[in-house]
Amino acid sequence: MHPPVDLAEDLERFNGRLATYLKPEDIARIGSAYVFSDAAHRGQMRSSGDPYISHPLAVAETLATWHLDPQALIAALLHDVMEDTHVTKEQIAERFGKTAAELVDGVSKLDRLEHQSYAQAQAENFRKMLMAMARDVRVILIKLADRLHNMRTLDAVRPEKRRRIARETIEIYAPIANRLGLNSLYRELQELSFRHACPMRYRVLTRAVKQARGNRREVLSKILDTIKSALPAAGINADVMGREKHVYGIYRKMRDKHLSFSQVLDIYGFRIVVKDRSTCYLALGVLHGLYQPVPGKFKDYIAIPKVNGYQSLHTTLIGPFGTPVEIQIRTNGMHHVAETGVASHWLYKDDQSLDALQKKTHKWLQSLIELQSASGDTAEFLEHVKVDLFPGEVYVFTPRGKILSLPRGATAVDFAYAVHTDIGNRCLSCLINFDPMPLRTELRSGDRVEIITSPHSNPNPAWLSYVRTGKARAQIRQLLKARQNQEASVLGERLLVRALEEIGYTLAQVDQLAWDRFLHDTGARSREDIYSDIGLGIRLGPVVARRLMARDDNLQLEVRKAGSVTIQGTEGAAVHLATCCSPIPGDPIVGLIRKGQGMIIHTHDCSTLKKLNRAKTEWVDVEWEPAIGRLFDAHIRVIAKNNRGVLAQLASGIAETDSNIINVSMQDDDDLTTSLYFTLQVTDRIHLARILRSLRRVPEVLRIHRHAQPVKLN
Ligand code: MN
Repeated sequence: MHPPVDLAEDLERFNGRLATYLKPEDIARIGSAYVFSDAAHRGQMRSSGDPYISHPLAVAETLATWHLDPQALIAALLHDVMEDTHVTKEQIAERFGKTAAELVDGVSKLDRLEHQSYAQAQAENFRKMLMAMARDVRVILIKLADRLHNMRTLDAVRPEKRRRIARETIEIYAPIANRLGLNSLYRELQELSFRHACPMRYRVLTRAVKQARGNRREVLSKILDTIKSALPAAGINADVMGREKHVYGIYRKMRDKHLSFSQVLDIYGFRIVVKDRSTCYLALGVLHGLYQPVPGKFKDYIAIPKVNGYQSLHTTLIGPFGTPVEIQIRTNGMHHVAETGVASHWLYKDDQSLDALQKKTHKWLQSLIELQSASGDTAEFLEHVKVDLFPGEVYVFTPRGKILSLPRGATAVDFAYAVHTDIGNRCLSCLINFDPMPLRTELRSGDRVEIITSPHSNPNPAWLSYVRTGKARAQIRQLLKARQNQEASVLGERLLVRALEEIGYTLAQVDQLAWDRFLHDTGARSREDIYSDIGLGIRLGPVVARRLMARDDNLQLEVRKAGSVTIQGTEGAAVHLATCCSPIPGDPIVGLIRKGQGMIIHTHDCSTLKKLNRAKTEWVDVEWEPAIGRLFDAHIRVIAKNNRGVLAQLASGIAETDSNIINVSMQDDDDLTTSLYFTLQVTDRIHLARILRSLRRVPEVLRIHRHAQPVKLN
């Protein structure tokens, strides 16, 4: 049991700490926050019977030992007023500024989170969610200091609650402290948790450790003396201390490495702190000369720091009597980072502005990233930092308290699909934190999301414009496509019936053999596929109808490639040649179905087609029927020397190649050259090429181009 607190004494000690690094006006503001908080909590007691204000004061004092800025200290003093009293965020903002209010609000949100059940929720996700929700690292630091004080005073709480809080601390908060590099906090949280979660084991182990230490003191001091004299002899100034093993650390080693108590305790630990990096390596050399090192135990965390920024040299030596001796060697700076981690960069700072704080946080992370890149595992580390401190993910609750992680920007629809495909496909509306909200609402960490479904509900194409996850997108697309195919199939069947009627048949007259042959030729899976292709305009009803009846009718439609439609360009109303690119047989072509206009044939490289940017499904794969036997218009421009009689020469060259000139116009480019624009009738590309070859033989011709459209000169 703790003695009752002496508020006056605590307050004096707190102010003394503030005076070591803060300006008087800041200390005065922190003082008024204390008065404000004290008044708000007046009459409230802790379980221990102490006045409530003793708790926020203790939390603020911990932050003061980390030299946190005034806003964080004010927020620490006020961290419970929003939850426990009637004070609002706005009131805090008005009195103490927006930053302090935001910090208090952040801590309160985490408190509310705690009251939800995390029992079934995975501890790892819960940790990440806490980190993600606290956009400002200071919120987490306040929360950790809060937890530390609650753990220190846990004796006053009833045993059942005590065990729950202890377990939560070891699963959630100690790992966060470790991740942030707050080592001494991490160890204390572990030690306290272990004591409260497993009181029996803790008592037995503590007694055993105490006894064993007495027996081993002699060995310890012998090693300590040897090291302490060897280092100065080599010209190295160093602080050498024996490391006390923590009870929880011993317990964990026994459990994880299956060691006996004496095997664990027989390892002696020493820490050596020197002035700079190179001295660390010198000291290492001296020690390796002193005792035999254990092979494979040396670790250079200076060259390759741990993810949380920890740096040290680790080695294990074989001491006198063959006992293993664990050594850590580091500089003073490394020692600070090792003990206080993320908080260490607030220490000894001169600038108090928030901007500078953010910059320092950023710099700290940046330096970790740089250090980490030396070890080559940057991607993974960045992933950790991003998730934990700069959240790229949001963590939300299902109505049953399960935590789901979604990418930032994810909406209620993404959530629905993440829970189950059927929920997504049938989702109708949603409740976010019990309020009805639009399905497109972006989710935030900590939201409780409930999806309302209806058996008649269907995915809406508009969802595709805001869903964020690949799963939701794929599922919506798939369902929409299935639905579209179904609708198209009904329409396609009707179109085919009409097309068959036009050539004198009914659908029933198409025999199974004709269908099988057609399916085989086209590679389609079923009649329904063919119907929906017709409905979507991928196939033409009349073409399918004629092919189905081909054997009967001697219609002789040539099929050159499965799946593509052959055209003659003489199909009448159904097929048009585009005037923007004037395709001729031999040009690679594509058909584009326009509603009410039939199919328009463009060349592959048609610039108009590129601008249309249509959905690919409206494009029909088409090919020219061989030996069509009609003529097509082609447009060319001939640039020739400005000689009299050149037109006559060209005209006779064209006539020689069995082509007709439909139109010609000419224009002088300058004194020396003339452009002549011809529209010619050709059978195909080969024919056109022959014409061009013939024209190039005319000595006056300088250049010839094919034009996509006729050129109109005024
Ligand atoms: Mn608290």
